[in-house]
Amino acid sequence: MTPLTGTLAEWRTRLRAGEVSPTELVNLAADAIEAEQSFNSFISFDREAALELAAKADVQSPLAGIPIAVKDNINVLGQPTRCASKILAPYVSPYDATSVSLMKQAGGIPLGRTNMDEFAMGASGENSAYGLTRNPKAPEHIPGGSSSGSAASVAAGAAIASLGSDTGGSIRQPASHCGIVGLKPTYGRVSRFGLVAFASSLDQIGPMTQTVEDAAILLQAISGFDPKDSTSINHPLGQYESALDKDIKGLRIGVPKEYISKGNDPAVAQAVEQSIKQLQSLGAEIIEVSLPHSEAVVAAYYIIACAEASSNLSRFDGIRYGKRTDNPQDILSLYTQTREEGFGPEVKRRIILGTYVLSSGYYDAYYAQAQKVRTLVQNDFAKAFGEVDLILGPTSPTPAPKIGAGKLDHLQTYLADIYTIPANLTGLPGISLPMGQSNVGGANLPIGIQFLAPHFREDLLIQVGSALGK
Ligand code: GLN
Repeated sequence: MTPLTGTLAEWRTRLRAGEVSPTELVNLAADAIEAEQSFNSFISFDREAALELAAKADVQSPLAGIPIAVKDNINVLGQPTRCASKILAPYVSPYDATSVSLMKQAGGIPLGRTNMDEFAMGASGENSAYGLTRNPKAPEHIPGGSSSGSAASVAAGAAIASLGSDTGGSIRQPASHCGIVGLKPTYGRVSRFGLVAFASSLDQIGPMTQTVEDAAILLQAISGFDPKDSTSINHPLGQYESALDKDIKGLRIGVPKEYISKGNDPAVAQAVEQSIKQLQSLGAEIIEVSLPHSEAVVAAYYIIACAEASSNLSRFDGIRYGKRTDNPQDILSLYTQTREEGFGPEVKRRIILGTYVLSSGYYDAYYAQAQKVRTLVQNDFAKAFGEVDLILGPTSPTPAPKIGAGKLDHLQTYLADIYTIPANLTGLPGISLPMGQSNVGGANLPIGIQFLAPHFREDLLIQVGSALGK
């Protein structure tokens, strides 16, 4: 395999200087996808469609004709969108998601649909009907999930950059496990129109890139108000690239005392300490803060996310989209057999859990309580952001586990989302940056740290990330 060496910003410079044409670059990128067999980070790709766009690409545009990989749950006109599920197997999208059409308007070229946990449910990349994805940095380990292929493709040099989606950490956690940058924007910043819904009040699309600069460029291209998404927010766009070279002198960075936990792997704890030292040497002020409801976030998230998923996924019934069972006896068995055959075990588990917590008699005990916890968590963050500009912590309590390690204990896998979930419950933006490695057991596993910012302050995430040299 010939990896695509160069960041998005570097390829943009080469394209503008005429050293390479968009057509040549698309061919290089498509060759890299074809050659990328060992990690299984792609489900499908369409070289011809990308070449058509390359022929018309303007190298002076913000994305200059650069091919970008797209997670398999974001619709791209004329291409299959499978969400790594058998139930959507024959579905071809009749439209572009707004993030994809904005990317195209900015001169970007969607190329390659990346593997994922089915319907974005999972944190390992193992729940895919198209086979698991491996971590390019340590092939016996998971790449993280659910945007497993979006992270692995960038880490393997099989994509220059990619789009992922993040409902409870699915951009940031795989970015952290694969040693790349992943940015989850503020809820409402990037349109969800054309993103297959998992949990609508939590889902958000964002960039997964080699550098913070690339994240800034891609975020700029896909952000903006969209009347087609009723939760899109008409807030002025940030100037993300101009945040790149600002220093961080005097910036107040909060470290929640609940995040300095004994449950963190030593390499993770060390990465946080190392970043604190670096931030201090750059003139930032480190302040202890408290997020007292941290213990409850995982439970609240899994109730809310499953409840919304059970409702959102009811549309996959064999009538309107994708697969239909071959020999139904009657209309009811058409629904049930299609869903039985089409969904994988994790998706079924979530639909059952979600239906349970919404059912009469249990709604108040689970769903309503979880919503109250959500408000408490929002209040915790509002208070903390009264004291500091940014919050720092680990992205994940451990480096990437070995493939198969989470199979027996789903709860343990869910609990590992503790640091990423709060950004989704609150709608806050967050970024994961590579920081150090764990070298236990012969594998060199990347570690990620996470910064969270107030709503619509993605510029601060970019500022601090670039000050740290990422
Ligand atoms: N790991 C979380 C889950 O399984 C997050 C998934 C996501 O962000 N899409 O629900």
